Amino acid sequence: MNPFQQHLQAVLSERRQQHRYRSRPEIGAPQGPELVVDGRPYTAFCSNDYLGLANHPDMREAMADAAQHWGVGSGASHLVCGHSDEHHKLEQELAAFCGRERALVFSTGFMANLGAITALVGKGDAVIEDRLNHASLLDAGLQSGARLRRFQHNDLDSLQRQLSLSAQAVKSLVVVDGVFSMDGDLAPLPQQAALAAEHNAWLMVDDAHGFGCLGETGGGVLQHYGLGQNEVPVLMGTLGKAVGSFGAFVAGSEALIETLIQLSRSYIYTTALPPAVAAASRKSLQLICRESWRRTHLQALIARFRRGAQAAGLTLMDSPTAIQPILVGDDAKALALSQALREQGYWVSAIRPPTVPEGSARLRVTLSAAHSEAQVDGLLVALARGQSEVGD
Ligand SMILES: *Cc1c(COP(=O)(O)O)cnc(C)c1O
Repeated sequence: MNPFQQHLQAVLSERRQQHRYRSRPEIGAPQGPELVVDGRPYTAFCSNDYLGLANHPDMREAMADAAQHWGVGSGASHLVCGHSDEHHKLEQELAAFCGRERALVFSTGFMANLGAITALVGKGDAVIEDRLNHASLLDAGLQSGARLRRFQHNDLDSLQRQLSLSAQAVKSLVVVDGVFSMDGDLAPLPQQAALAAEHNAWLMVDDAHGFGCLGETGGGVLQHYGLGQNEVPVLMGTLGKAVGSFGAFVAGSEALIETLIQLSRSYIYTTALPPAVAAASRKSLQLICRESWRRTHLQALIARFRRGAQAAGLTLMDSPTAIQPILVGDDAKALALSQALREQGYWVSAIRPPTVPEGSARLRVTLSAAHSEAQVDGLLVALARGQSEVGD
């Protein structure tokens, strides 16, 4: 074996030994509660398609029609000749939806976070992040060249300490997830916004898991709290989760968006999304407004799941959202519980370190407006049975 292959084999066998080897289940059906995985049917509770829009007939139609009109590829980056009417209208509709001056569509959420943070802070600045922030936010903080400081999850005293330690920085940017992806809990944004203002720091919120689900009209975590552009100047949202499409955006002031167009390398140096994907996202915004029953039904399922899980003695986390993890702790036990569910026809992923902190392996159950009450009840029965098989 040559040294390159030898190196790779060593990396892979170390992952295996640590029980951290990752593999990809192969999906053989459109997203929805009834999923086909590796050729077998399951009832799935693990997608981020929280509103059940990813395979909505109106979305399929909007995308197909737009592909007939626009073709498939956008052909170029936004600044060259890839920025179509479809992208532009999506941006205007997103801005209106969020109640902000403007929005900028990025090709993915990872790129939106990378592009925004590296455009806003650099050497001599501070970027202050919750330690449970999404990997893309932490990576962007590191890459920005600013001093990256982390505070204890949702801990206001810890945030205050990190803000005080950053007093010498030229600019400080506080960055948090609005809804934490592996825990489902909300950031205490009103208090965090007040602390940021007190220390002349700016606040950026990644609302990947709140946008579409939270708030009166699905405006997300900021609508839930009643916070605007003044308190939270930088809002990031994704279009691949509750929106059921693909891509992401940053919304804020005119000057913010113009700055990102000038400076965000992950915006400038990449091909624009296919226009048909933008068209599907535009349709989704209409559906999020029109089909408010999706949010209501999702809330009812969340309450039903929590009641049932508590009655069955399962360890829930403090989450009011569609992300309802069952805390297991031990990695092997989390895997065994996930396996026990599979044997009963339910697909729920086990999440282990390093995605979550050591000793906090869990099943990441996610609910969707496409689930029925009967499906949720079925999962609860399977969880209780699985738990007794795996043992406490
Ligand atoms: C999924 C996710 C992202 C990345 O978005 P993509 O469009 O999937 O790249 C960023 N932040 C959070 C909190 C996420 O959950």
